[in-house]
Amino acid sequence: MRIVALAGGIGGARFLRGLLAAVGPQDEITVIGNTGDDIHLYGLKVCPDLDTVMYTLGGGINEEQGWGRTDETWSIKAEMKEYGVGPEWFGLGDRDFATHLVRSQMLTAGYSLSQVTEALCVRWNPGVRLLPMSDDRVETHVRITDEQGTRAVHFQEYWVRLHAAVDAEAIIPVGADTAKPAPGVLEALAEADVILFPPSNPVVSIGTILAVPGIREAVAAAPAPVVGLSPIIGGAPVRGMADKVLAAVGVEATAAAVALNYGSSLIDGWLVDSADQDAVAAVEAAGIACRAVPLLMTDVEATAGMARAALALAEQVRT
Ligand code: GDP
Ligand code: CA
Repeated sequence: MRIVALAGGIGGARFLRGLLAAVGPQDEITVIGNTGDDIHLYGLKVCPDLDTVMYTLGGGINEEQGWGRTDETWSIKAEMKEYGVGPEWFGLGDRDFATHLVRSQMLTAGYSLSQVTEALCVRWNPGVRLLPMSDDRVETHVRITDEQGTRAVHFQEYWVRLHAAVDAEAIIPVGADTAKPAPGVLEALAEADVILFPPSNPVVSIGTILAVPGIREAVAAAPAPVVGLSPIIGGAPVRGMADKVLAAVGVEATAAAVALNYGSSLIDGWLVDSADQDAVAAVEAAGIACRAVPLLMTDVEATAGMARAALALAEQVRT
C-alpha cells in the first residue's frame, strides 16, 4: 500500500511513528512536510518541521521537548549571547546546528531543498520518503496588533517568542502563492492508495501545505480516500496554541469545526477522540464519514491504534 501523509512537526511526527508501527514492511509511506515554519538564522536555513519528522523517526529527537536533538548542548548559543547576537528566544543547540550547516552548505552549492532533505535522511533513515512541500521559499507570517502597532511577525516569533499570547489577526504564508510543489509531491498524491492528515495543526501545518498551488487540488482529485485525525480534543488543542491560529481563520477550536473547515471536497473520513463522540453526527451531516476513537498519542502502541483506525476508515469510505 502506498500511503501519503501531510505533516507538520510534533503532531505529525508522533503520528508517523505510530503509522510505521501499524503498517507492514511492504507498505510505502511518503510524507509531505510543512516548510512554512522555516526561518533563516545566522545565515542558515532552519526547517523545524522537516527536522522534527526526521529526528523523531530517526531516533534523534529530544523526547520530552518533542523538538531538537537528544543529549543537546548549548555552547554556540552561549557564545552568540556573549556577542549580543540573537535571537535568544529561538533554541538552536550545538548538535542541531550541524544539520542546519549541512543543509545551508548544500543549498549554497545549488542543491534543492528536496535533494538536501534526501541527503540528510541518509543519516537518519526515517523509514519514510520525506519530501518538503516545496523547494521554493515559503514563510508563514502572522498579523498582530500590540503596543508597537499592527504588524506582521514571522510565525516563529509569534509562536516561540510571543507564545501566541496576542491574538493572530491573519495568517499569511508568504511566498506560497508562487511556490511550486516539490518534485514527487503531486505524483505521490495521484498514485496514493490512502492519503492521511495526521493530527497536525490545521492552519499553520496542513493549511500551509495545502496553500501551495496544486497540492489542495491534487488531494481533492486523488482517487485515494483521504482521512484526517483531529488535533483538537474536548474543544482544545492537545498541545500548543492551535486555537489561536484557528481563530484567525474564523474556525472554532472543536473537532467538528476543523473537519468542516477541510470540507467534504477534501476529506472523506475524520477521526475524533472518544471524548468528542457528540461531534460525529455534525461531521457526518457534512458528508464526511466520522468515528470516535481514542486519539491521545500517549505511546507508540496507542498511536499505532490511531493509525489502524484511520486506515480502517479509509477502507470503509473507498469508493
Ligand atoms: P508542530 O508543527 O510541532 O506544531 O506540530 P504539528 O502541526 O504536526 O501538530 C501540532 C498539533 O498536534 C497540535 O495542534 C496538537 O493539538 C496536536 N497533538 C499533539 N499531541 C496530540 C495527541 O496526542 N493527540 C492528538 N489528537 N493531537 C495531538
Ligand atoms: Ca510546525
